[in-house]
Amino acid sequence: MAKFDETPIIKDPAVKGELRPPKIREHASAEVKCHPSKPKDTAAINLPSELVPDWQERAIARFGELLDKNQALRVYMDACVRCGACTDKCQFFLGTGDPQNFPVARAELMRKVYRRYFTPAGLVPGLGDAADFDEEMLQKWYTYFYQCSECRRCSVFCPYGIDTAEITAAAREIMASIGISTKYVTEVVAKVYETGNNLGIPPLAWIDNSEFLAEDMEEITGLPIQFPVDEEGADILLIPPSADNFANTDTMIGYGKLFHFLGVSWTTSTYCNEAGNFGLFLNFENLQKVNQRMLEAGRQLGAKTIIWGECGHAWRAGILTPTLSGSMDDFDPPYPYHISQYIVDMFRKGAFEGHIDKSANDEFLVTYHDPCNSARAGNLLDEPREIIRNTCNRFVEMPRNTIRENTFCCGAGGGLLTDELMPIRMAGGKPRAEAVKYTQANYLATVCAICKAQLPELMKYWEVPVQVGGVIDLLANSLKLK
Ligand code: SF4
Ligand code: SF4
Repeated sequence: MAKFDETPIIKDPAVKGELRPPKIREHASAEVKCHPSKPKDTAAINLPSELVPDWQERAIARFGELLDKNQALRVYMDACVRCGACTDKCQFFLGTGDPQNFPVARAELMRKVYRRYFTPAGLVPGLGDAADFDEEMLQKWYTYFYQCSECRRCSVFCPYGIDTAEITAAAREIMASIGISTKYVTEVVAKVYETGNNLGIPPLAWIDNSEFLAEDMEEITGLPIQFPVDEEGADILLIPPSADNFANTDTMIGYGKLFHFLGVSWTTSTYCNEAGNFGLFLNFENLQKVNQRMLEAGRQLGAKTIIWGECGHAWRAGILTPTLSGSMDDFDPPYPYHISQYIVDMFRKGAFEGHIDKSANDEFLVTYHDPCNSARAGNLLDEPREIIRNTCNRFVEMPRNTIRENTFCCGAGGGLLTDELMPIRMAGGKPRAEAVKYTQANYLATVCAICKAQLPELMKYWEVPVQVGGVIDLLANSLKLK
């Protein structure tokens, strides 16, 4: 079995010619656009419901505010030397063949407006590569800043460290301020304020499903494995992505089995049963508000520890918690704590000694998909691998230039997991599918709910026969319960 440092390096994109060509026509990505927001959602999250009449002035003013607040953004606007090192590093270019999906071309849409309104080049029409922020440019922003999953892969290869994901985030922030945002992202954020989670699951349905899972577990294992909800005084508040309770139930069962085995008291919260934070894909105000709910939930229930469940972008937003929402000193640990870190800590304390049967996972040849947000933006690289190696005999890495900080996006992060973007999602996921095919694995493990929603469709599309599941699912499968 290949170890990490023995994994092969193959040319980008992973293995050319192994997969049939994408169904999307070259350059057709210009025609693929997100559906616009609905007024009921924008009203719920404090955004204009349609393009405001003085949108150009307001957009430029907001752009100026961001440049003043965020020194890095100004550097990213000025520093690019157009060396081209990033051009073939974006999976959305690799998948669609549309040069407008070069990271540098995407960022240039914003730089042109920057040069026009914030540099001397903009004072003389026709001088330098500057452009008015007109309707045509706004349309390009809406198309291409929503064909970027904010994955940061390009930034790994930029000699100047330019982070195109930050540029995309700033462009979306500006667009949101003038009434341009997408239905998928705004609907999800509005649901969080209404129900506590991205899926819009009402509290009673959450409780029902948790009870159903407990009954199911008792029937299967004969053990009283509980899925407590709103349990005041529980030691641990688990904040999973809500999809775990309804779609990725093996992952939810994994949490239940783990905490049962360890004999710790835990709970979920109906006030905040969502680790995901789509504010990250929309604007700072909502990023902060959604994040604050997590600490509020922990304090309401008197939890000692808050643990983030298996979700990539939740972790990217989660590690910002002390900056976004203030001190976590009343929790232990006093900083964001991920379920993978918790499990690794338990392994290191010997909590599972003599209670893991790795052969229970022998039917699987496992490979691991690094979600962009947990890996590149959240430094969660070794923990999932340590769990897999401790619970499975058969593990194979994807090629070295497609994993860890070089990982390819699943194709649906950054608020792109929506049906109208399906051609972009399937095209953008092609390099990931190629790398998985290369391993011949039959289990694709990951720690992200968005990846778990996208990857099965992607693998089916590219005809790569592999089961997708969580890392904690593998632990639960190998755990000898008591
Ligand atoms: S690699 Fe960096 S400097 Fe080179 S074109 Fe891309 S963003 Fe610009
Ligand atoms: S952040 Fe990711 S999706 Fe966006 S341009 Fe860079 S590589 Fe492409």
